[in-house]
Amino acid sequence: MSAVWTENEPVSQAKEVKIERETHKLEKRLCRQVGQAIVDYNMIEEGDRIMVCMSGGKDSYGMLDILIKMKQRAPINFELVAVNLDQKQPGFPEHILPEYLATTGVPFHIETQDTYSIVKRNIPEGKTMCSLCSRLRRGILYKVARELKCNKLALGHHRDDMLQTFFLNMFFGGKLKGMPPKLTSDNGEFIVIRPMAYVAEKDLIRWAEHRQFPIIPCSLCGSQENLQRVQAGTMLREWEKQYPGRAETMFTALQNVVPSHLMDSKLHDFKNLKTTGIPDENGDKAFDEEEFPTAVPSLPGLQVIQV
Ligand code: SF4
Repeated sequence: MSAVWTENEPVSQAKEVKIERETHKLEKRLCRQVGQAIVDYNMIEEGDRIMVCMSGGKDSYGMLDILIKMKQRAPINFELVAVNLDQKQPGFPEHILPEYLATTGVPFHIETQDTYSIVKRNIPEGKTMCSLCSRLRRGILYKVARELKCNKLALGHHRDDMLQTFFLNMFFGGKLKGMPPKLTSDNGEFIVIRPMAYVAEKDLIRWAEHRQFPIIPCSLCGSQENLQRVQAGTMLREWEKQYPGRAETMFTALQNVVPSHLMDSKLHDFKNLKTTGIPDENGDKAFDEEEFPTAVPSLPGLQVIQV
């Protein structure tokens, strides 16, 4: 250590302490949110053998990292098996994940299947390859889960993925439909869980930086990013910038659905609605306008005083 006093030293030390404190808070938040999602949706049960799907992106690294911590402190026994599917995309650095996974102590399996060539052969140049690619990937992952005797598959989607999906379905699919935190696989064989459901993407970005995960770029296949998803992501980030907390509020809304106040007759029997004759304090006033807390836009350099 240098014995020479410099003006910068106390400042950088203070900064270091601050970063350490922030990182500790971030870790606690990630563990709390993942733990909460697991409990709220009963994602993990005694004896589960969970296949953790690793793409090499920040989300899957973060998921595995936090699940390892959860396993250490969980009151129940369950197993994790990390799995990566090497789809033989050009330039895929195949040594990175095995090297990283070997340091985690979690059993892992790399499945190598050249779906890239199949997709290239079958999809005309310039057309989007993602639907065939993900269909093939899904089938292979089910096969691997079966071989590894896993009963659950964990995916790394986070809160912002879920919100984006909700808006994509609404804008382009005409459906109020999001991305469930837990579901039965389409072949009926597995339970699929999303333990990062409550985690904000920005926290995963910070965690990946802190942990220095060896991220594998997701553009190796050369496929265009889904433009609609990019737009939905930009829209949500802009809203959040202008109205801090909006993403959280929208996410809470996904957990507070009121079918009687939507218009889906399959969810609420509007046709056979009858009077009850009993006043209900919490009933719909129908004539009164709903009141909401005032949203204050956040504009740089502008202080808004509410009176
Ligand atoms: S982005 Fe590439 S790897 Fe991902 S689903 Fe599309 S084609 Fe497959």
